[in-house]
Amino acid sequence: MTASTMTLPGSPHLAYRGPQLFIEDLAVADLARRFGTPLYVYSKASMLAALSAYQRALKGRDHLVCYAVKANSNLAVLQVFAQAGCGFDIVSSGELHRVLAAGGDAAKVVFSGIGKTRAEMRHALEAGVMCFNVESEAELELLSDVASGLGRTARVSLRVNPDVDAGTHPYISTGLKGNKFGIAHERALATYRRAAALPGLEVAGIDCHIGSQITDTTPYLDALDRVLDLVEAVEAAGVPVHHLDLGGGLGITYTDETPPSAETLVQQLLARIDARGHGHRKVLFEPGRSLVGNAGVLVSEVLYLKPGEQKNFCIVDAAMNDLARPAMYEAFMGIVPCVTRDDVPATHCDVVGPVCESGDWLGRDRDLAVASGDFVAVLSAGAYGMSMASNYNTRGRAAEVLVSGSQAWLIRERENPAELFAAERLIPQG
Ligand SMILES: *Cc1c(COP(=O)(O)O)cnc(C)c1O
Repeated sequence: MTASTMTLPGSPHLAYRGPQLFIEDLAVADLARRFGTPLYVYSKASMLAALSAYQRALKGRDHLVCYAVKANSNLAVLQVFAQAGCGFDIVSSGELHRVLAAGGDAAKVVFSGIGKTRAEMRHALEAGVMCFNVESEAELELLSDVASGLGRTARVSLRVNPDVDAGTHPYISTGLKGNKFGIAHERALATYRRAAALPGLEVAGIDCHIGSQITDTTPYLDALDRVLDLVEAVEAAGVPVHHLDLGGGLGITYTDETPPSAETLVQQLLARIDARGHGHRKVLFEPGRSLVGNAGVLVSEVLYLKPGEQKNFCIVDAAMNDLARPAMYEAFMGIVPCVTRDDVPATHCDVVGPVCESGDWLGRDRDLAVASGDFVAVLSAGAYGMSMASNYNTRGRAAEVLVSGSQAWLIRERENPAELFAAERLIPQG
């Protein structure tokens, strides 16, 4: 396979032109030299194309796509989505601050998460979020209390746990009985009755989110059926349910996965909604990974090639603190050279970072023709990459760049060491 015919998973905005890897109209290696490494680079066109797949399928229908902020919460990323008409799915007060700072509209925000604090509820109520996705009966009581105290009404959806297996990694599966998420299906009706009776609440909808990196439509359709059964039971009990929030979770291609397109998924879900006589309802989605995952790469410099008896290592300057997915979920992520070369042989190696943990690897058993000083790109790194980055080993977090056509903007500066401990204090001497 020569570089120019090599197909890369995911984004059509990432491709080789001759030996050079390009993101939109810029060579990734040039960006690495200009901004330094490790460096996250995102394609704006790729993000907008992913969003428009949802929007096309939802055209003509009362709907809202709420980008799940936790997938990539950079302000400029949020700004791009806000300008494209997106709402947002948040899981903390911190994310609400980000959405507002990026120009997002609180009236298009849904607030998810099992552990909302009183202070977070107050913040969201004062900002005027569209809806709280409530995950337990205790949360319902507290939210009513907080809202009443402010003289406001909180619009709520109950996140129900449909007990379907999304067929994904256990850490990112959320719709099974043993998960900490959502209200058990058999408790849902009673909880809706309680919600309708509480003074500070107004029932707005129903919500479910069954997991992440889902590559098949079947679990979605199963969950939808369970949700619609509940809606019918809840309305029969006299509590109107206006919107259906079907969550996020659509997978992307990291290697050979073949998830349905967003259009296919949405079309199938809408067809089922219509067939069951619920076509009048507003429909919400909360995609994260599928909007940004394939839009980004993590660029890293090869520091050393270290041959070993059992394994060869390609030591790069990005590590598990920059990109946790391989260490955390044993996730496979493609790794390619930013400039292909045929003057060095490919070595079979593990691609690892400098962090002092054996779990610090980005890729195992790869064949890479690279030399020290070359740049490599970790593919499909736009989601749950930078947003999960840490400062472990007192490593400053990477810089981030957004590309549109032949323009590149620095959207987050590289952290420097002094910033990392600026909030820490020495104790008095003696
Ligand atoms: C994480 C999350 C999402 C987004 O999931 P993706 O797999 O990134 O699409 C949506 N809704 C909720 C409640 C979440 O926790």
